[in-house]
Amino acid sequence: MKNPVIGIVGNVMTIEKGSFLGLERAFLNDAYISAVLEAGGIPIMLPIIDDLSLISSQISCCDGIILSGGQDIHPKFYSEPQHKHLGDVDSRIDKYQLEVARTAIEMDIPLLGICKGMQIINVATGGTLYQDLEEMNTYLLKHLQSGKTFETSHDINIDKDSTLYKLFGETLDVNSYHHQAVKKLGAGLKITSTSTDGVIESIEMNNKRLVLGVQWHPELLVAKNKDITRLFKHLIDKSKNK
Ligand code: MN
Repeated sequence: MKNPVIGIVGNVMTIEKGSFLGLERAFLNDAYISAVLEAGGIPIMLPIIDDLSLISSQISCCDGIILSGGQDIHPKFYSEPQHKHLGDVDSRIDKYQLEVARTAIEMDIPLLGICKGMQIINVATGGTLYQDLEEMNTYLLKHLQSGKTFETSHDINIDKDSTLYKLFGETLDVNSYHHQAVKKLGAGLKITSTSTDGVIESIEMNNKRLVLGVQWHPELLVAKNKDITRLFKHLIDKSKNK
């Protein structure tokens, strides 16, 4: 049997200097690609497209999908005005990613959301976000770490009734690159881990082959902790059997 094809949702950057000044470039961080390869999948990039009616055809070549990280989601997608601490937004990217999440869930293609990707799953299912962790009274930990990407920042406490528990047990030390977090949970989702200050660190949907979101960056941790590859292996296992 062929190795499952994992579509990784790309991002867009604007070239800021040199001959191609102002040009928009589709890209993907290498760490996602190596994590998928390491786990036995064939990575391909899904570039942002504007015609959302093409998404079901675009993703039908994928056995599984990863929604990668990125900038903040425009709060208009969950009907809130912009908070003063909202970061950079690009609604063209959000529109595409939200529709990929909805379509993958509908088509029951295994889906792993990483950082912004988890927030996309939440908003796509009708949930909302804290636009900045300062909005949370309980905010204590450093969720926007500095330093090496494989360094860890805080523990998460994992719910027994979850995929993450089967893969990692009760607690896991994770990195943290977010200043936003899930507020109201989307339809059909459950919280499967939190940090000690109450920030939601992972979500899951039952009754699907796999819909799982993590607020941390497993693809950056695998460089120093091979155990983390289990998460990508799980996505690939789920992607094998229809
Ligand atoms: Mn965190």
